[in-house]
Order: sequence, then structure tokens, then C-alpha cells
Amino acid sequence: MQIRFLPIPTETVRAYRQGTPDIYGNPPERVTCTSDGAPCRHCLDYIPVGAEMLILAYSPFGARQPYAETGPIFLCAHDCRAFDPADGVPPIFRDHPMLIRAYGENERILYGTGAVVPPERLETECAARLDSDQVAFVHVRSSTNNCFQARVE
Ligand SMILES: [Zn+2]
Repeated sequence: MQIRFLPIPTETVRAYRQGTPDIYGNPPERVTCTSDGAPCRHCLDYIPVGAEMLILAYSPFGARQPYAETGPIFLCAHDCRAFDPADGVPPIFRDHPMLIRAYGENERILYGTGAVVPPERLETECAARLDSDQVAFVHVRSSTNNCFQARVE
């Protein structure tokens, strides 16, 4: 199975860069990146220290329902290239364990699918979940802060 790590869509990111309010109605915060571990959810790479970045509240779901978690994300404030799903595992997933969780077509958690997996097992564990007919997609989240990172199909 060829799995694909999908970034937040470019048109959505472009809107936030132009000041479109986030899900809570606040304009994205613009700050200077001061840590070398801030992952951009568009290029799926680390934002360079010293570069401007956006912080905003994001919910990676189509509808607001009990399972549609909202949380903070970072984006490069400058134009960055969307991660190409053909490029395999994104740079931000190569160093740390990640939390993965599978969802059904109704965007609700499929209980029993959540796990913290080391980088070398990430593709295999995502593929194993996507192999089930019940699974529509997998989310990758930070294993320490629970922040949404990317969708996997
Ligand atoms: Zn970026």
C-alpha cells in the first residue's frame, strides 16, 4: 500500500497568511520562530529559527462534532512549498515518536487504533490501520503535546 502524508491545503494556508481568522475568529498570530523544533503543517518541515511564523487554532475536520478537536498549529509565514505526498515520510516525522489515530468516514475516532509509534514504524503502523475498511484516514499528532501534524490516506 502506498500511503500519503497530506499537508493542510495550500489555499487554506494562503488565506491564513492573508489574515483570515482562525476557527475561534482570531487573526493568526505572527511571531518570530525561536525554537528549532516548530513544525510547519504545510511544508511539513521545521520552520527556520529567526523566520516569521503563524500560530492559530485549527480543526482538521469537515464538521464541528464531538470528535473534531481543535488545537494550535504553526505555519511558515513566508510562502513555502506544500509537502509533496510522493516524497514519503515528511522531515518532521523522522526524529520523534508520534501519536497516530484512525478515523472512520464519519470523522470519529476508531477506538483501539491509537498508538505512539517510533519514526521507523510510522509508515508501517499507518498502513496497517488504513488496511481496514472501517478506516477513512489517520491523523498524526505530537506524542508529547497532542497537536495535529498531518493527515494520512
Ligand atoms: Zn512551511
